Amino acid sequence: MKYYILFGPPGAGKGTQAKLLVEKYGFHHVSTGDLLRKEMAAGTELGLKAKSLIEAGNLVPDEVVVGMIHSEIANNPDVIGFLFDGFPRTTAQAESLDAMLKELGQSVTSCLSIAISDDMVAERIANRAMIENRPDDTKPEVIANRIKTYHEKTEPVMNYYKAQNKYSEVDGSGTIEETFVKISALV
Ligand code: ADP
Repeated sequence: MKYYILFGPPGAGKGTQAKLLVEKYGFHHVSTGDLLRKEMAAGTELGLKAKSLIEAGNLVPDEVVVGMIHSEIANNPDVIGFLFDGFPRTTAQAESLDAMLKELGQSVTSCLSIAISDDMVAERIANRAMIENRPDDTKPEVIANRIKTYHEKTEPVMNYYKAQNKYSEVDGSGTIEETFVKISALV
């Protein structure tokens, strides 16, 4: 079984590329952001807890997302592979994923990273805010906090996979198609 991680700052285009990769390769797409937004829309206890954190641009606790990933893996035994999008976002989450996969006799295939500058992150998020209705995309201070959180908590995940020789990066500043060609070449 293949376990790909789609990595990158908010607004890098992970969701867009994930959709295209799923169409081409048939992976099971798991976006922790989408799963959390579903919980919020359904008004579950988990969703209510996550809402204030997300709307402030903070991460939800590791154990919450690790639990969601555990269920996704357990509930989809017959897929040809997983494409994780927005997970892992901390080194602790990466370690939990490794432990989970180890129990199944599996391991992460590769971490595919989409790199864009902070300026482009801000620009893309502002654009997305006009298309999708995401409260965490509209307030400048929340966007700034997400960029800060990315550098502090999520960027170290890069080194985690680099140390395992499982990290590759593409330039995400071009068009959707250009980025897709580059990412597909790594799959
Ligand atoms: P973006 O595409 O802007 O990076 P996501 O849709 O992936 O946003 O996630 C939205 C928010 O959901 C994040 O800012 C964070 O608060 C929360 N979230 C999503 N995935 C995780 C995760 N793996 N760990 C902690 N929080 C998460």
